[in-house]
Amino acid sequence: MTAAQKLQITQQRIQAACQAANRHPGEVQLLAVSKTFPVQDVLALAAAGQEAFGENYLQEAVDKITQAAEQSELGRHLQWHFIGPIQSNKTRPIAEHFDWVHSVDRLKIAQRLSDQRPAHLPALNVLVQVNTSGEASKSGVSPANALDLCKAVAQLPHLTLRGLMTIPSNTDNVAGLRDEMLLCKTLFDSLQQHSLTVDTLSMGMSADLELAIACGSTCVRVGTALFGQRSKIPTPNQG
Ligand SMILES: *Cc1c(COP(=O)(O)O)cnc(C)c1O
Repeated sequence: MTAAQKLQITQQRIQAACQAANRHPGEVQLLAVSKTFPVQDVLALAAAGQEAFGENYLQEAVDKITQAAEQSELGRHLQWHFIGPIQSNKTRPIAEHFDWVHSVDRLKIAQRLSDQRPAHLPALNVLVQVNTSGEASKSGVSPANALDLCKAVAQLPHLTLRGLMTIPSNTDNVAGLRDEMLLCKTLFDSLQQHSLTVDTLSMGMSADLELAIACGSTCVRVGTALFGQRSKIPTPNQG
């Protein structure tokens, strides 16, 4: 299958899921997760119309962003989202190279990103990552502390709080997955009740984007369905 065909099939899945959930397809953005895949694959998908790309590993991402911009006009106009775990000594290149960050889970990281955002760039769009599964191994702020962290992030001058992100448990238990996604949706709605202006709920991947859209996702992060199986690092949320 070509990149264009994979993109079309994924867009059709999103449309069908929106229809089933009585939602407008324009409400759900597709983020193409290109980690482990080369810049050629990114540019092929970009040529088919995809604009937003997500990356987990900083050095790989910075190399790819630079190469994409060097290799084509199209590659200069892509939108890049950082979706991996963030170490505090790695915030500067994230602040310099990305348009969005989905994985802010503590205030210290947010403060550093704001301080290090270059003055000539617009504010960095930020999602607070919530640990909805309760697994200690997972990144993310606890649901109980999510509101306070969002309020603090919203105050920072060079960040724009856009919403929440979650990576639910890696499980086949659909009922459990739905509970975790609905918990994140409830938190998302409660931000608006606390006068925070947010518009983005990032949840759902190749295997569960339909469920995520049914649970209120506005941004699905899709890797495998667009690029194929990754040869290494099968689970998300690793450094
Ligand atoms: C790798 C990754 C994805 C994409 O997962 P697929 O199952 O390949 O679609 C989505 N989100 C995060 C945070 C990831 O690390």
